[in-house]
Amino acid sequence: MGKEQLLVIGGVAAGLAAAMQARRAAPGLRITVLEKTADISYGACGLPYVVSGLIPALERLVLHTPEYFREQHDIDVQPHTEALEILPARSVVRVRANGERREMGFDSLVLATGAAAVCPPLAGHDLAGVFVMRQLRDGRRLLQFIEQVRPRDAVIVGAGYIGLEMAEAFRARGLNTTVVESTDKMMSTLGGALRDRVVDELRGRGVEVVLGERVSAFEGRGEQVARVICESGRAFEAQVVLIGVGVRPAVEIAKDAGLEIGETGAVATDANQRTSAANVFAAGDCSETLHRVSGRRVWMPLAQPAVRQGWVAGANAAGAMPEARFAGVVGTNAVKVFDLEVARTGLSLEEAQAAGFDPSIIEDETASRAGYYPGGAKILTRVVHDKSGRLLGAQMVGREGVAQRIDVYAAALHANLKIEELNQLDLAYAPPFAPTIDPILRATKQRDEG
Ligand SMILES: Cc1cc2nc3c(=O)[nH]c(=O)nc-3n(C[C@H](O)[C@H](O)[C@H](O)COP(=O)(O)OP(=O)(O)OC[C@H]3O[C@@H](n4cnc5c(N)ncnc54)[C@H](O)[C@@H]3O)c2cc1C
Repeated sequence: MGKEQLLVIGGVAAGLAAAMQARRAAPGLRITVLEKTADISYGACGLPYVVSGLIPALERLVLHTPEYFREQHDIDVQPHTEALEILPARSVVRVRANGERREMGFDSLVLATGAAAVCPPLAGHDLAGVFVMRQLRDGRRLLQFIEQVRPRDAVIVGAGYIGLEMAEAFRARGLNTTVVESTDKMMSTLGGALRDRVVDELRGRGVEVVLGERVSAFEGRGEQVARVICESGRAFEAQVVLIGVGVRPAVEIAKDAGLEIGETGAVATDANQRTSAANVFAAGDCSETLHRVSGRRVWMPLAQPAVRQGWVAGANAAGAMPEARFAGVVGTNAVKVFDLEVARTGLSLEEAQAAGFDPSIIEDETASRAGYYPGGAKILTRVVHDKSGRLLGAQMVGREGVAQRIDVYAAALHANLKIEELNQLDLAYAPPFAPTIDPILRATKQRDEG
């Protein structure tokens, strides 16, 4: 009997994490990774920093080559190979590689097809100069375009975190940059004083921020985008446009194969990353997961869960015993917006309400370092909790000490701590790093005091 075959569809974070973990669990397994684009094993999260010029070349984002996987780990990674159809009953995947179609059998399959950038079918969305930012090839195309066309004005549609990172990148390249966002929020959930800090930072760095305007069309000059038109009739000059209105899970082949799709639109999985089909696993941005605070299945398309789900899927697809489990997420994310750190974990007030809680908030602003120590900055914190004192979430904005501090809230959420318990933690203090009472302890003490 030949070796058992693991097929992995998708050659980036989740897919390669799965392949590597499967190799650790089963040295004798045959492992093949199919990737439809030319690029594998790269950090998409670094794309804005290549566009800005901070990272000098796109290639710096690439971690490993197919040769590395073959020679070091006996994993066959095949770029330019698209999985067209999964036939779970026959344990077969139909693929297209170099224009030719063939069938590949599997004993176990990991779906790691990720997510795709949403590009609303607005008039003119196919003009030259209109981009999304999701894959390495998107970055390549944008950089080539900027080199050739030398645009002066950029419009970013959507104030999600990728849109804001790209606003910074465009400013770093000297482009006049406008962010147009249809809601009154930044990064989909950030409102009130926290949002205002982000807007102030963007405006202070020369980015025009337009909230409450919905883009309705792109107008061209010839084949090339020239203006972005809003429903209100407002228009903005732009020779380059970045659409950053979100992503959707890439689940077409999973759906066609009859795999269960969850309410979130992503592939339904259990804690072992199993799908509804035998011997088929899913991981990363194509799959949904458990939110430990709301207890609901959610879709959380972020890199760290993608890799960790990949490890779990890979181990289980290789037959690891005891079975690996993914513990779920609490929804932690941090973004740099020029000199501002913006971070969140758990549920926002609105998300907590939608999840059936009766939440309250504490808002507090305090210094990142001891008052007498030079170089500190204010940190604005919003803590969300319920009437019983259960911690539900936190959001923080400040010029330093935010992105790592949010991890304390994330750990507290993971452990289901009450605000009072969080307030008892023994956190590090020295004047260059924190005031005597850390911003976390100060904010959570407020509930004690009513
Ligand atoms: C600009 C940017 C910044 C980001 N910043 C952060 C950040 O700061 N923090 C964070 O946590 N996350 C960030 N992310 C998100 C992070 O990159 C993703 O969560 C992560 O890449 C998900 O990995 P994945 O393997 O699940 O999916 P993907 O990276 O989407 O990879 C899926 C792969 O599957 C391939 N594929 C799809 N269908 C098929 C098929 N039928 N056959 C063969 N191959 C197929 C695709 O071509 C793709 O290469 C960022 C993303 C972008 C674009």
